[in-house]
Amino acid sequence: MPIADPIEREIAARYLLKYKVCRNCGAKAPLSAVKCRRCHSKNLRLKKQELRR
Ligand SMILES: [Zn+2]
Repeated sequence: MPIADPIEREIAARYLLKYKVCRNCGAKAPLSAVKCRRCHSKNLRLKKQELRR
């Protein structure tokens, strides 16, 4: 379901996109994380900042 309201889109994006992803095992980690919880790798990337429906 696409979100029409730009304000709601921003709120949704905040929850859906603001996290890091481990390049090693693919686990989600918080923005503030330095290393992965699951495999302890420091190879984290930001989730791609693009909202798709
Ligand atoms: Zn990991």
